[in-house]
Amino acid sequence: AFSAAALAVSLSACGSAEKTVDQKGGDTEGALVGVTMPTKSSERWVHDGDNIKKALEDKGYKVDLQYAENQIPTQANQLENQITKGAKLLIVASIDGKALSNQLEQAKAQNIPVISYDRLILDSPNVDYYASFDNFKVGVQQGTSLLTGLKVINADGSPGSATGPLNIELFGGSPDDNNAPFFFKGAMSVLQPHIDKGTLVVKSGQKDFDIAATLRWDPATAQRRMEDLITSTYSGGEKIAGVLSPYDGISIGILSALKSSGYGTAGQPWPIVTGQDAEVASVKSIIAGEQYATVHKDTRKLADVTVKMAESLLKGEKPEVNNETDYNNGKKVVPAYLLDFVAIDKSNWEKELVETGYYTADELK
Ligand code: BGC
Repeated sequence: AFSAAALAVSLSACGSAEKTVDQKGGDTEGALVGVTMPTKSSERWVHDGDNIKKALEDKGYKVDLQYAENQIPTQANQLENQITKGAKLLIVASIDGKALSNQLEQAKAQNIPVISYDRLILDSPNVDYYASFDNFKVGVQQGTSLLTGLKVINADGSPGSATGPLNIELFGGSPDDNNAPFFFKGAMSVLQPHIDKGTLVVKSGQKDFDIAATLRWDPATAQRRMEDLITSTYSGGEKIAGVLSPYDGISIGILSALKSSGYGTAGQPWPIVTGQDAEVASVKSIIAGEQYATVHKDTRKLADVTVKMAESLLKGEKPEVNNETDYNNGKKVVPAYLLDFVAIDKSNWEKELVETGYYTADELK
């Protein structure tokens, strides 16, 4: 752990002025906190950034909030700048989990604690805490939504009316984001038994994460892959019944490709398509009966937990965590606080997203 407290003790023991301690984080009231987010091109990160900034400012901290438009060197520079500007703590949602080791080493050298936000930073010992959702469970939910949408199982988990064989295709998230394989493995843990039984068929044969992955979660990349799958695998007239999608932006790309080849009409209904983040366009798509489901991760709660962690660290206290085993970043097991999420579909979007004040009814019209 960083040693601001130890430093404060040793400095005061040798009679140094309080102000010197100040600089090393002993007194961090009103301190600057650096917050780096991956991109503004996806709404969720805009909500995350806004929520954290507001919560920290309400507690009297100063905040430097930066977005890097998915450019790794930009994010690295932003971190360096925040260190130079005297940030006393860094909150980082990384683009490439393995690309920030040098910057974090600089932070460590100056006793600046680092919170890995939503995505685990990999290959660096200089990550102090992790705040996220239960990512494997998110994947299990995405797989489960696909199964219930296809009526392979009922809502209570009992066997559904569909016996198959039903054609499905699989999409994964960005290979440089530690969350992506968690989502994929979680989903496959519930899909694989039905693939083994022959109820579900991945007709393209593209079943591994490496081939199903979507670099930087890019919707256009997903759209192209879906178009290619339709051409390579379904040109004989076979139908696609479902598509596992890990993120709403990817779902939108997938749905566009499906639409171009005639899905979404009376004779050819939409396949069951999953998602994540409950972004406005996708919730509207769910309301319109296009996308089937999404996973709502309340960014207000994640911001809350993160800001509590930040406050504890800045005061030299130990933050509360609820998982000290699952998130090994290659150099250490990072103590984590993992939150729960809510599955959203046509039946509950209003209750979960409007009645909770996450969106206004107007935003979803
Ligand atoms: C987040 C997801 C998000 C994805 C794409 C992941 O790291 O956990 O909520 O859908 O990135 O932005």
